Amino acid sequence: MTAKEIRESFKKFFESKEHLIVPSAPMVVKDDPTLMFTNAGMNQFKDIILGNATPKCRRQADTQKCLRVSGKHNDLEEVGHDTYHHTMFEMLGNWSFGDYFKKEAISWAWEYIVDVLKIDPADLYATVFEGSPEEGLARDDEAASIWEQFLPKDHIINGNKHDNFWEMGDTGPCGPCSELHVDSRPAEEKAKIPGRELVNKDHPQVIEIWNLVFMQFNRKADGSLEGLPAKVIDTGMGFERLVRTLQGKTSNYDTDVFQPLIKAMADMAGCKYGDDEKKDVALRVIVDHLRAIAFAIADGQLPSNAKAGYVIRRILRRAVRYGYTFLGQKEAFIYKLVPTLVAEMGEAFPELPAQQKLIMKVMQEEESSFLRTLENGIKLLQGVIDDTKAAGKTEIAGDKAFTLFDTFGFPLDLTELICREQGMTVDEKGFDACMQEQKNRARNAAEVKLGDWVVIKEAESEFVGYDYTEYPCHIVKYREVKQKKGTAYEMILDQTPFYGEMGGEVGDSGVLVSENEEIQVLDTKKENGVAIHIVNKIPAQPEAEFMACVDVDRRHAIESNHTCTHLIDEALREVLGEHVEQKGSLVTADYLRFDFSHFEKVTPEQIRQVEHIVNDRIRQNIPLQEFRDTPIEEAKQLGAIALFGEKYGDKVRVVKFGSSVEFCGGCHAKATGQIGMVRIISESSVAAGVRRIEAITGAAVEKLMDDAQDLQNDIRALFNNTPNLLDTISKAISENKELQAQVEEFKAQKAAQLKEAIISKSQDINGTKVISGVLPIDPQNAKDIAFQLRAQFPERLLVAIGCAAGGKPTLTVAFSDDLVKEGKHAGQIVREAGKLIQGGGGGQPHFATAGGKNADGLKSAVDKVIELAQL
Ligand code: ATP
Ligand code: MG
Repeated sequence: MTAKEIRESFKKFFESKEHLIVPSAPMVVKDDPTLMFTNAGMNQFKDIILGNATPKCRRQADTQKCLRVSGKHNDLEEVGHDTYHHTMFEMLGNWSFGDYFKKEAISWAWEYIVDVLKIDPADLYATVFEGSPEEGLARDDEAASIWEQFLPKDHIINGNKHDNFWEMGDTGPCGPCSELHVDSRPAEEKAKIPGRELVNKDHPQVIEIWNLVFMQFNRKADGSLEGLPAKVIDTGMGFERLVRTLQGKTSNYDTDVFQPLIKAMADMAGCKYGDDEKKDVALRVIVDHLRAIAFAIADGQLPSNAKAGYVIRRILRRAVRYGYTFLGQKEAFIYKLVPTLVAEMGEAFPELPAQQKLIMKVMQEEESSFLRTLENGIKLLQGVIDDTKAAGKTEIAGDKAFTLFDTFGFPLDLTELICREQGMTVDEKGFDACMQEQKNRARNAAEVKLGDWVVIKEAESEFVGYDYTEYPCHIVKYREVKQKKGTAYEMILDQTPFYGEMGGEVGDSGVLVSENEEIQVLDTKKENGVAIHIVNKIPAQPEAEFMACVDVDRRHAIESNHTCTHLIDEALREVLGEHVEQKGSLVTADYLRFDFSHFEKVTPEQIRQVEHIVNDRIRQNIPLQEFRDTPIEEAKQLGAIALFGEKYGDKVRVVKFGSSVEFCGGCHAKATGQIGMVRIISESSVAAGVRRIEAITGAAVEKLMDDAQDLQNDIRALFNNTPNLLDTISKAISENKELQAQVEEFKAQKAAQLKEAIISKSQDINGTKVISGVLPIDPQNAKDIAFQLRAQFPERLLVAIGCAAGGKPTLTVAFSDDLVKEGKHAGQIVREAGKLIQGGGGGQPHFATAGGKNADGLKSAVDKVIELAQL
């Protein structure tokens, strides 16, 4: 079977077991503060598992794009070195939300693997949780007895808490799990060592393919476990590992998922996969990372220097580095593989072909810029190596290697490689210590202690904020959040007009008021589908009815900016072209930010055009048309554009202002007139192919215009309220230029006079002409005079001039060339004599200057020069 057929067969199988097949969620997670990327199939169901939402179907299945490069699941350093861990991979999964449990989960897994896919049962091993005395948990005999219907006892293996007890986090749903492992070694090896001895032992041919998680407990903040009311089945099977097993390969990279990419990269590097292990690792790293990066960009996550963007940047850099070091790639190269990737995966993942140009541009630019960094890093490292050698040592200090890593993205193994080539080593312990220190700093700053939820009322939370900014409500639950910066509380309400931060729009703030209390709502965030109110305290009577009141002025400003974002989006497409696609936005009360794909700078004329179009639509006062709970197909017919990387349900909300139609869950003006006016205040580049504009609306524009007007008035007042400001200023500028020229001329004349004066006062010391004095001139004049004198008196001459124009004393010293030949050195003398004006300086033997602070010392400094010259 091809990879594609295998993917389809999984969906078909679970469809036949009455599962709803749902699409993969985006790889980049947007509403879960504990997670940057989807790292397992269950992520998109977290709100259901946590009891915040009702599933539309209690049995679901899908294939989910996952990325394991940060946090709890980080496989990055394995990838490429082994043959079965990827950064990005697909996870096939089936779920039961309070429906079936262990019996069906295990028997269907077996039926699919053995009856449908025909994997030999003799190669299969299952693990079950062995129990944990300290948790008071017995062995999962229930699961074991179900496996025993299919597998001989010696193919069922007990596993410890680490491998066989799954937890969502420090708190929350958890439970035992059972993994299915496949032994794909040749028969003679199987005969030598039984597969059961190699399960969970990192053997590359005895690998885990499927994990069945049985969530039946809830872990509380004090560490204790309680039963979960609605039990959950959550399974995850590595698609690439399954394909490899079915295609009879010993490496995921030998399947049709990766081979075309490996071949393309090997051709580019002029090598062959399988000839040289070092190169093979590099080839695997590159094709693996290529997928992760391309999918991340397609999902809207560009490489950047913070958070999720930085993780993507690091993956790309890792791939570049392997190509650079082991495949001799000195110029951007990974982006050239994108067409092959699109040819292979574009059909299953339409976001790839749709954004191919952007993906390639962004990658090429990132690669080139990192290759430049690498070159600089190599130079820096060479400096460190030279210094270390000069100090008679052979080991590079750990902190030096860490600085290279931290500041220049220069990884330790590359540093070591380069050092080794020159017979040097790196203090790895020192490096690790620096790394640990940095991690601790970050951890301490970010440490959060969450208390248990205190439940006041059983209810789901409903958002009423599209229609109301004040609404009566009850508290559903709350918990304490202890952080370095202080303690706050998170609170969930049954009905809330507060918008939780989501989709670029910031959250609402305001107050909760009951008969005898008032509580500040500092912010509202949306987490796993629920609005969480961040409040300053817990009410004395949490059961009371409260009035939830949103800060209305702030909300209106936010609404205006959000509506304006839609109008700008549409106007940009009209002015720049249909390729413009939203790549991120931020909507606050003060301003809005909009990122979009476009391949060159937006000109000032185009910006004006966009402003004019939007302002015109604001003046038309177009009313908001809102379509809630609209089936997605109908929404598309209304003209709304679905964005890649966004998670849409079957029912969506569409926001329409005249011809602007968007999928949007945010808060909007009732009509465009509310915006007042827009002004775009900046245009810049975020990444190759992505531009950013920032704009302000309403009262903020009024303020900007007031400030501009005030400034203009103030300037006009400076010019006697001239009616024609522009002419007056340009006249003033040209007059000023003329005067400047005259001043320069006068200064030169004066300097010439002063020069004659000091010549006439020159002394002869043992046959050397000494021309000296303290003059009221600029350092530049002093320099000119010194060189003129050197030309005028080419033999046996010393010039020593002090000057203090503008209050800053300068000492200027020059020798004729013959004295220089005799060993006189103006630079050395000026450094010494400069101390008398509290300054320092230096220069060449024939000419040098020193600047200082103490003008009173000039006369003695000049005398000192003559003394030091030892004529
Ligand atoms: P392993 O021990 O092999 O790292 P895991 O215990 O981390 O696996 P789970 O978290 O249970 O795996 O994920 C479910 C399934 O996803 C695994 O059985 C495996 O088939 C697959 N999988 C996990 N990590 C990766 C990865 N980095 N690349 C490809 N597939 C993976
Ligand atoms: Mg793992």
